[in-house]
Amino acid sequence: MRLLEFQAKELFAEYGIHTPQGRASTDVDMAREDAESLGYPFVIKFQAPVGGRGKAGGIQLCSNREEFEIKYPQILEMVIKGERARAILLEKAADIKKELYLSLFLNRSKRCYTVIASAEGGVEIESVKDQIIREVGMGHITDDVGLEVAREMGLEENITNQFIDILSRLSQLAVEKEVELAEINPLAILDDGSLVALDGKVITDDNSNFRHPELQKYHEASEVEERAEKSGFSLVTMDGNIAVIGNGAGLVMSTLDMLSDSGGRAACFLDVGGGATTESVYEALTLISKIDGITGILVNLYGGIVKTTTVASAFLLAYENRLIDIPVFARLKGTESDKARVMLADSRTELFDSVEDAIQSAVTEARTQ
Ligand code: GDP
Ligand code: MN
Repeated sequence: MRLLEFQAKELFAEYGIHTPQGRASTDVDMAREDAESLGYPFVIKFQAPVGGRGKAGGIQLCSNREEFEIKYPQILEMVIKGERARAILLEKAADIKKELYLSLFLNRSKRCYTVIASAEGGVEIESVKDQIIREVGMGHITDDVGLEVAREMGLEENITNQFIDILSRLSQLAVEKEVELAEINPLAILDDGSLVALDGKVITDDNSNFRHPELQKYHEASEVEERAEKSGFSLVTMDGNIAVIGNGAGLVMSTLDMLSDSGGRAACFLDVGGGATTESVYEALTLISKIDGITGILVNLYGGIVKTTTVASAFLLAYENRLIDIPVFARLKGTESDKARVMLADSRTELFDSVEDAIQSAVTEARTQ
């Protein structure tokens, strides 16, 4: 998921990377209070998962209350690159001497991070000149590498140490939060000689977000996820092709781990909670049917009170109503499994005695598609 600027900056601050003092709001009443406590001048910044906001007029200096009353509502209503504002950030204005570029991105195929830095920041990466590019492995970046990059950028002595420190902190953030990209553009040298992250872009790996419940608050719920919440399920969408249904957070997590160890990629995980009934499993299948690109559904239900026949009824009903037309690979721990097997014999649901076998079949199916 891509964090908004103010969210990325929250993470930066957590890791000790300096950012200007700021506050995010979603309406003008909220913002009026922020404006008073921040004090003028500040910058009003449009918050949406897009770049190039400056050019589009989504970032404006605000020097007094009159300006605030005009500019805040204007920026709140803007649409930039097709995106509406999710929030507005008010941020203490900075006196910029020079803008640098710094980012770390994960090269998936090489399983390593790459640092990109440039003494010419503030513009989009494609037009950043004189890029310095270093592959730095999967670990934290050493000060030696930081020093090398700083030298190549031609940074002055008093900036160099701050730069090394920021790069080290950024790498710690990247590794710990398993990010695909952490970018500071511009990383600004201010008139007083300090280095500050004036913009922030963080993209986390959707396949590892489940390991980071602390990032959940940054997740913008999709329509399907909102509906799941209403049904009392927890559902998180990912970018694979196998939908995972289970009951109980621990069971679902371990199923996900096993799936990924077997080379499978989850499209979502859905925890139907305590007991599974025909209705709850049917509702779970309804939600999953709304997710694109799924090749199969992996079900791992466990519970003394679960009657496998009641769950089997849900699968049958889902096929009958043409809710789904993909195979289901299910391990149902419960009573009446022989009867359930007979019920499902002619359907595209297959019952397995072990979750390992169910996973194997789901992964094989995904590969043939
Ligand atoms: P982007 O256009 O979406 O990348 O948004 P940025 O947050 O990077 O802002 C774009 C540009 O606005 C920056 O490169 C700066 O030149 C300028 N800018 C942002 N914040 C400030 C500020 O506090 N003071 C000044 N003087 N300029 C700012
Ligand atoms: Mn920027």
